[in-house]
Amino acid sequence: MAASGGYNYRDAATQRSSFKVDRPLSVNSNPKSAVKSKPLLPPRRNSTGSIGAAAAAAAGTASKDNTGVPGRVRVAVRLRPRNSDEMISDADFAEIVELQPELKRLKLRRNNWDLDTYEFDEVLTEFASQKRVYEVVAKPVVESVLEGYNGTVMAYGQTGTGKTYTLGRLGEEDTAARGIMVRAMEDILADVSLESDSLSVSYLQLYMETIHDLLDPANDSISIVEDPKTGDVSLPGASLVEIRDHKSFVELLRLGEAHRFATNTKLNTESSRSHAILMVHVKKSVKGRDSALSSQNVNNSHTVKSLKPPVVRKSKLIVVDLAGSERIDKSGSEGHTLEEAKSINLSLSALGKCINALAENSAHIPVRDSKLTRLLRDSFGGTARTSLVVTIGPSPRHRGETASTIMFGQRAMKVENMLKLKEEFDYKSLSRRLDIQLDKLIAEHERQQKAFEDEIERIAAEAQNQITEVEKNYADALEKERLKYQKDYMESIKKLEEQLVMNQPKHDFEKVTNGPKDDKSNVTSSKEICRLHVEEINDLRKLLQRETSLRKAAEEETSNLKSQLTQWKRSEAAGNSEILKLRKMLEDEAHQKEKLEGEIATLHSQLLQLSFDADETSRQLDRGGLGKVGGLDSLMTQVRHLQLKESGNEDKASIAKIFEQVGLQKILSLLEAEDNDVRIHAVKVVANLAAEEANQEKIVEAGGLTSLLMLLKTSDDETIHRVAAGAIANLAMNETNQELIMSQGGISLLSMTAANGEDPQTLRMVAGAIANLCGNDKLQSKLRAEGGIKALLGMVRCGHPDVLAQVARGIANFAKCESRASTQGTKNGRSLLIEDGALSWIVQNANNEASPIRRHIELALCHLAQHEFTIFSETNAKDMISGGALWELVRISRDCSREDIRTLAYRTLTSSPTFQGELRRLRIDN
Ligand code: ADP
Ligand code: MG
Repeated sequence: MAASGGYNYRDAATQRSSFKVDRPLSVNSNPKSAVKSKPLLPPRRNSTGSIGAAAAAAAGTASKDNTGVPGRVRVAVRLRPRNSDEMISDADFAEIVELQPELKRLKLRRNNWDLDTYEFDEVLTEFASQKRVYEVVAKPVVESVLEGYNGTVMAYGQTGTGKTYTLGRLGEEDTAARGIMVRAMEDILADVSLESDSLSVSYLQLYMETIHDLLDPANDSISIVEDPKTGDVSLPGASLVEIRDHKSFVELLRLGEAHRFATNTKLNTESSRSHAILMVHVKKSVKGRDSALSSQNVNNSHTVKSLKPPVVRKSKLIVVDLAGSERIDKSGSEGHTLEEAKSINLSLSALGKCINALAENSAHIPVRDSKLTRLLRDSFGGTARTSLVVTIGPSPRHRGETASTIMFGQRAMKVENMLKLKEEFDYKSLSRRLDIQLDKLIAEHERQQKAFEDEIERIAAEAQNQITEVEKNYADALEKERLKYQKDYMESIKKLEEQLVMNQPKHDFEKVTNGPKDDKSNVTSSKEICRLHVEEINDLRKLLQRETSLRKAAEEETSNLKSQLTQWKRSEAAGNSEILKLRKMLEDEAHQKEKLEGEIATLHSQLLQLSFDADETSRQLDRGGLGKVGGLDSLMTQVRHLQLKESGNEDKASIAKIFEQVGLQKILSLLEAEDNDVRIHAVKVVANLAAEEANQEKIVEAGGLTSLLMLLKTSDDETIHRVAAGAIANLAMNETNQELIMSQGGISLLSMTAANGEDPQTLRMVAGAIANLCGNDKLQSKLRAEGGIKALLGMVRCGHPDVLAQVARGIANFAKCESRASTQGTKNGRSLLIEDGALSWIVQNANNEASPIRRHIELALCHLAQHEFTIFSETNAKDMISGGALWELVRISRDCSREDIRTLAYRTLTSSPTFQGELRRLRIDN
């Protein structure tokens, strides 16, 4: 895979064959960076050589993704200065090690006439300061830990070579002497906030497969516990001390040292026989948008979004001061039996075996053979960022030990880790929050229900009172009327009876007197009687009339009362309907309550599902993430997973499988999706695919190149620009694609991206793409006419060494084509590079301290000056003299460490009459 990356390392590889390198620099390793404080582990830099993969890492997906990023174990070698004994005893011997720090090389004398050469990630001479050692060895690891990854810093070497000096010095008498442990804690304390984060430390010693707690000497058999689910290793028996400030940490280290001394005295051994292990646990809470977990689309449902659990990162820094690597004297000079001697060495030799197995990609890694390897399982072949410093002494007397230390370091450099963000959801605090919310809802609901019930009771009671009152009033009025009529009636009857009694004797008398008397007097009395009767009748009539009117009044009163009664009845009905209404409201309320309870139950089950999902996800991640292939996310997971491993045939087969299952067309169509995130995902997938030579033709055939170029034009997202440019750079490796890119206006699109880009990684991709185009003989004049050279030169403004290296490579490619064209007679006259003003930058950077930049420029100069006599070379020679390039050519012909370039420069100078004339004039002997 890596060989198809956008860089051309072939030159470097041929050069390397001129000396012996034990570890052939794999194309997988990083181009050496030339940043001022050359860190061993540039954070977020991908170690694979593929531009596509580097683009994905540079886009920040590395840290935002839980599938991990590859991170090779980085190894630095540190040479201890001669001590006073060695000054005297070794004075007559030749040095056995020779360091070339700028080339990161170490030469070890095999005998008087032979040297072995080794390359390391960093070579620290006897003059390297403690500050510089911290910065190149440990600082990147500490930064990683603060970002949420596990980290390990370990020192390996013979006793007396400076392991403890490098790691453990407290530097109280001289702050410049502070070692890695102290400096690491200073950086960590400066970064964490002690209100929201937490920081704690354990300090242990491992001797003869027993772990002693250096913070609590009584505690001397601590066991190692491994989480079967995550593989995380912990020491629950070890003291864990919370750190609040730097002073308390230094105190702790001093206490640990004192206990270590006491323990070793008791065990009758020296501290050089035991391993000291410092563990720093960092727990940081993460803001929503910074978190990888919360940006993963765990679930889209609206309810769940509002239920996002808080996220924490729990990472661990382990600093290991190993026992001396020299072979222990089996004769028992320290008073040990042979069995003891074996046990003393067990952990260290198990570590060596594990590293050999990992370096050789062996199927079985004997992690379980010792406590040390179990403790460090995450550090080698695990998920931690690991940095190793191997310490050596200068004395020829220890050549054997020094050589074996170097070989240990060389093998450790081949170990690949897969860095994983130690981020998890804080379900406990989410559950606490939900419980409180739930309690509040239930209380509120109960309160409302009680208020309703009270209100209904009140209204019902009021209506009942009104009805009772109306009924009572009505009954009272009725009774009163009845009594009144009864009384009136009795009175009338009584009156009538009285009158009747009064009239009876008169009537009898008249009967007696009138009977036998004459008719005349009879008639008179009859008349009288008649008159009396009439009078009586009249009286009775009046009485009757009065009675009638009284009855009428009573009837009126009755109907009045009746109407009042109906009115009361009506209001009673109204009261009843009010009650019904309230009853209904009560029912609704009860219904509402049921619904709420249902929702609460759903929330509970969603919460459960969520934790189940999270467990499932983490289990899947642990298993390596290759589950079923579903949507784009799982595709991304797979592609990333693939890119992390070294590409074997098996992985290529898996990529082919993704093609079949998802379909290239579908992926490409997502490049035009509405949603920017989808576009970003899609372009990363395409970039990853484009890193594979086998996929490039398919991508171009399916129109992928056109879509990528369109993205440069239409998108204003820097991530998209960066990743798309990376993919284009990979496609631009091939000649047919180069012509296609040019014919589709690629140069002006890349120039535009170059002009607007700010991120060095974007510029690096764009420069890489243009540099590839510069190497095509047929495209020279078109590339220049469309501003390609100007765009390339414009990017040097950014100053980043990776970008400069790409610019230099483009210039070298272009100069080579021009020179070839002039030899074939198809080009005459001045170089287009010089016409576009490249010369002054070339001269300024010809001696750049970063070797990739320097090499390309040296080649470019040689091509421009050309060793054959042509009009091209002579015109350029004049420009080069006036531009100051002659000096550089002279320097290259004398000092360049690459013999082929040196010879080329020399031939160039000697074959050009113009240069020769100038050199004579300046009296420079060539
Ligand atoms: P180790 O832990 O590997 O056994 P030490 O750290 O104890 O070795 O170092 C042995 C001796 O060498 C100590 O006296 C230490 O001060 C000295 N020493 C080690 N490295 C350096 C260095 N880089 N500069 C000066 N003195 C050193
Ligand atoms: Mg030591």
